[in-house]
Amino acid sequence: MGTNAVNLLYLVTIVCFVLALKFLSSPATARRGNWIGAFGMTVAIVATLVKSGVHISWEMPVAAAIGSAFGLVGARRVKMTAMPQMVALFNGVGGGAAALVALAEFHELAPPPGRIQGDISVSILLSALIGSISFSGSLIAFAKLQELIKGRPITYPGQKLVNAAVFLGCLGLGAAILTGSEKQWLLWALIAGALVFGVMFVLPIGGADMPVVISLLNAFTGLAAAATGFELSNNVLIVSGMLVGASGTMLTLLMGRAMNRSIANVLFGAFGQVSAGDVATAGAGGGTVRSATADDVAVMLAYASKVVIVPGYGMAVAQAQHDVHALADVLEAKGIEVTYAIHPVAGRMPGHMNVLLAEANVPYPQLKELDEANAEFSRTDVSLVIGANDVVNPDARNNHGSPIYGMPILNVDQSQATVVLKRSMAPGFAGIENPLFVDPKTVMLFGDAKESVAKLAAGVKAL
Ligand code: NDP
Repeated sequence: MGTNAVNLLYLVTIVCFVLALKFLSSPATARRGNWIGAFGMTVAIVATLVKSGVHISWEMPVAAAIGSAFGLVGARRVKMTAMPQMVALFNGVGGGAAALVALAEFHELAPPPGRIQGDISVSILLSALIGSISFSGSLIAFAKLQELIKGRPITYPGQKLVNAAVFLGCLGLGAAILTGSEKQWLLWALIAGALVFGVMFVLPIGGADMPVVISLLNAFTGLAAAATGFELSNNVLIVSGMLVGASGTMLTLLMGRAMNRSIANVLFGAFGQVSAGDVATAGAGGGTVRSATADDVAVMLAYASKVVIVPGYGMAVAQAQHDVHALADVLEAKGIEVTYAIHPVAGRMPGHMNVLLAEANVPYPQLKELDEANAEFSRTDVSLVIGANDVVNPDARNNHGSPIYGMPILNVDQSQATVVLKRSMAPGFAGIENPLFVDPKTVMLFGDAKESVAKLAAGVKAL
């Protein structure tokens, strides 16, 4: 196929990717965005394969079939609660692929020495360096979220110095290659150093910060892909890599803002290293926990005029979203105003609650973001907290010593009454106790969220 036709198809791909990002930015259109993105990717693959001069060996379709089968089965089987790990894994292999292409290009171009042009060798080095960091860092993020290794920050004295030394070592190897020493082992050593750096860079970061790290590594993979695009003189790879890099960077910044933390604090603050004191404080605060039955709570709900539902990770674990929507319908049938307060980091990935509630066909206008929701709590009769914990922890607002101090929270404690649905007094992701549970205006409804919500719907209906 001629160059012009291929370029035209690449242009179609780029437009599809831009539209996909646009549609993905709202839960109402996200599904359409996903399809458009997938279509654009198919066009790019086909255009690349039919490009004149591309030799198609039998290994290529076989590799594509194996990769597609893994992607398809993995994406269909993955539980919603394990989605962040899946994203980390997919992101990591993207970075790994960029590093492998860099190795292949270097191998192809290096002998005899001096053949690689300066700009190409910079691209090769960047995709090898950034892609390898992204690959190994994403694998550690995956292992932390999958609880294959402990989620708490793993630190030791002098860690930052060691990390800086490894990174500088990689840069030194890169400089040696750039200054004309095009020896294969130098690039292998650079990749090995970058892989080690990726591991050491993510180990000291706490599990609760993994989504921010995954988003940052996602941006790295985008940059590595763009560098690969320069290496291969492939415009579509350059543009799509930059789109991933830019959107990953923006998501990282937005998530940092949602937690009121700088990116430097996320990366180097070893957040989540909970001391024994932190764990003890709220429990030791000495308040009394008031537990209620589903029938008691049903009465509270039935006599309210405004109920705000606050979903959290526990709703995802219990897969209670359909029952939650059914409960809201029962309440609305009684003339009660129902809205949902969505915290940007509720659950285990950005948009987690939006996706679950969209799956249960909850009308999108009922979902209120943090600021809008917080403005409403003072005139809310009952806040129904369904499997949320850290995102409603008043210590983030009041306790300077708390590890989550400064993170914006949903101020459910400002409503007339709060009902918390969870199974036990166990802490949430940050591993700290929550004084909301001993607030005099709070009652606890213990049990699996799905069962409790179903009981509440039946109870309210019967009244
Ligand atoms: P939390 O993890 O703070 O709390 C979830 C609560 O749900 C737990 O206290 C648990 O209590 C309860 N729970 C679990 N299973 C069930 C069930 N089957 N039925 C009822 N309750 C259940 O969740 P939040 O959503 O409040 O906060 C999210 C946390 O995760 C934040 O710290 C955030 O920083 C972090 N994070 C966020 C990510 C994101 O991008 N959204 C990604 C990774 C981490 P019990 O065991 O007693 O039932």
